Amino acid sequence: MSSDFQLTHPGLHEGRRIPLPLQLDDDLRDAVPTAWKNPHLQSAADAMLNSGLSPEGVNEARARLRRFAPLIEELFPETAQTGGILESPLRVLHRQLLPDRLLSGRGDQRLLIKLDSELPLSGSVKARGGVHEVLVFAERIALETKLITPESDYRVLATAAAKTLFGNYRIAVGSTGNLGLAIGVMAAALGFETIVHMSVDARTWKKQLLRQAGVTVVEHSGDYSDAIDAGREEAAGAPRTHFIDDERSTSLFYGYSAAAHRLAGQLQALEIAVDHDHPLVVILPCGVGGAPGGITFGLKRVFGDAAHSVFVEPTQAPCMLLGVASGRYESVQVSDIGLTGRTAADGLAVGRPSALVSRSVSSMIDGFITVDDDDLYRSTSRLYDAESLFIEPSAASGLAALPHVADGLHLSKRELERATFLLWATGGGLVPQREREDVLNEGRRLRDAEARTLGA
Ligand SMILES: *Cc1c(COP(=O)(O)O)cnc(C)c1O
Repeated sequence: MSSDFQLTHPGLHEGRRIPLPLQLDDDLRDAVPTAWKNPHLQSAADAMLNSGLSPEGVNEARARLRRFAPLIEELFPETAQTGGILESPLRVLHRQLLPDRLLSGRGDQRLLIKLDSELPLSGSVKARGGVHEVLVFAERIALETKLITPESDYRVLATAAAKTLFGNYRIAVGSTGNLGLAIGVMAAALGFETIVHMSVDARTWKKQLLRQAGVTVVEHSGDYSDAIDAGREEAAGAPRTHFIDDERSTSLFYGYSAAAHRLAGQLQALEIAVDHDHPLVVILPCGVGGAPGGITFGLKRVFGDAAHSVFVEPTQAPCMLLGVASGRYESVQVSDIGLTGRTAADGLAVGRPSALVSRSVSSMIDGFITVDDDDLYRSTSRLYDAESLFIEPSAASGLAALPHVADGLHLSKRELERATFLLWATGGGLVPQREREDVLNEGRRLRDAEARTLGA
């Protein structure tokens, strides 16, 4: 797609040791949980200018989502409450979930959770970017074929005539699961043929759900980056096929970025101030980087320097941290430093970071935290026991990172004492009951073992 981010620097490192900042070097290579303050952080205004991305893109995405809202409400009646706008609740969590380190001082720090795990359509953050890109493609076809004008009632796109039209087109995507679900559900409802390329890490239940939704699932033996490459290559020569490129797409990116304005409204409704004296710290699980990158871009636009983003990655798949810290961006993979890329956080099992986000958004990120799989299981079960909330292990990485988050932030002690901490719970709504029980049991087992060790 012409608006996709263009690569400028090919890989250079073949056969050479990837250079890393000294304080990160051992931890990252040895898969030890670590924290890193990003020395490339810039002011929101500078970072926005230097990103080469357009703040206007956020407005366009918001306007498009509004144009399509009546159609989405018609196709998915479960979105009636918000008039066809895909949105998730913002909830206040018990302060006891805040680690002691963050509870010092004035003692009015707050902990919030953004429940994208309950977003309609896919039960994950992917309903933001993925759905938006399907709508971009559908709108372009419908306008070109004069099925609609920009002033039309878009509900005409739910008619049989529109379905027949869209049935001539194919949408392809590489996915660890949730992106395929979001795109598959939206694309199928409009009548598109959908193909999802998946890596070996993808959960069986996600493949089954996709096939039930009428999506063609192609499995690849390599990792996620290989699945994307295979899908991109196959789609390149095919007629009437649109490949949704998780490593470069600006449509996905701006779809994610639209989250920030609505979050601002939700914070206002809770009477939570975000300003120079009251920083907002947003903790974002990161896979390829599109979702946390897009959300961060939106947050910087709405809150400026009062918003602080921390990205969380698994110790075996810290692709964004590796790409940014080494300065090699998408031309480096976690296997280049001896990591497997395998993790229980299947949504984050990504070996190579997004070119778009690692290059254009990295100066908006305060820092990075890595967490290991055991901590993901423990955090999932801790949240469930404390709040009766189930989120998938990928999403629970935010809670696992919380005790270390101060080490990834450019904030003083005084600023930390006045901060609101927001965990972005990126997914979990569609996880089947059996799978939930397995995850929670593993989490409880690990917590018991930890308690015994600490007590001994
Ligand atoms: C995809 C995903 C993420 C991360 O999004 P990226 O765009 O891949 O960085 C986080 N959590 C869950 C549950 C996901 O499915």
